[in-house]
Amino acid sequence: MKTKNIQFILDPPETHWVGNGFKVHNFIPGVPELSMQAMDPFVLLDYNAPMHVSPSDTPKGVGPHPHRGFETVTIAYKGRVEHHDSNGGGGIIGEGDVQWMTAAGGILHKEFHEKEWSKQGGTFQMVQLWTNLPAKDKMGQPNYQAIPRSTMGRLELPDQGGYIEVIAGEYNGVKGPASTHSPIHLMNARFNQGGKAEFTFPAGYHTAMIVIEGRVKVNGEVASADQFVKFEDGGESFTLEAPENAVALIMSGQPLHEPIAAYGPFVMNTRREIVQAFDDFNQGKFGYLEE
Ligand code: MN
Repeated sequence: MKTKNIQFILDPPETHWVGNGFKVHNFIPGVPELSMQAMDPFVLLDYNAPMHVSPSDTPKGVGPHPHRGFETVTIAYKGRVEHHDSNGGGGIIGEGDVQWMTAAGGILHKEFHEKEWSKQGGTFQMVQLWTNLPAKDKMGQPNYQAIPRSTMGRLELPDQGGYIEVIAGEYNGVKGPASTHSPIHLMNARFNQGGKAEFTFPAGYHTAMIVIEGRVKVNGEVASADQFVKFEDGGESFTLEAPENAVALIMSGQPLHEPIAAYGPFVMNTRREIVQAFDDFNQGKFGYLEE
């Protein structure tokens, strides 16, 4: 098996606020080397590095807004998030839980710190990933998958090295519960000090990793908390070793190789479809969601 080499390791770019609740480093597509085409089918990755949130009786976040043409995958690492959408989907995710919302043909949703958690405040850490949909599914039915941590696939590493927690796709035969529209592998490596694991994905898949906690040696090279590792497209296998307790989010997806036209909350194939999305949104075709 040919080694999948590191292409580059990135420090997090400057933050920006999403609403008043999420202070994110936008890796995809904000960093030029991480364009939507370069990371396809991963078209956006916002990383909220650990931050302190002061207690607030009014939960902070972002009010009703539309999406069309892709899926939002939210992974809570610290703190709790509450979501509601115009399709009737919704729920609360806490530490380690995931929500996988398929916007497809159009949805309105809102995302806030969960009410009770907001009252207490604390440390907040989250990833939001947007997975693109194939052209044939872009105008399909919206959907919502709640993926509590307890339902994820889990594979113990040898010598108490920790475990791999599979959200989507598979790791060494252990499958994740998420249903996807194209081949996507998404998983947390939760290492104890000294833990070690090898990962193999098909050559040509776009593959990356973000270090959530601690430090991880990637093919022998150290990547630290909040850093983003992009792998070369060629090669299949890489090795992670943990010199200390560590958590890393690993993603690998088969590129859709379809044209991408994206603007704001819409990711479509053509400019005309973007204009259509704005028209449909302005005509109220995305449904209704109260503030
Ligand atoms: Mn959103």
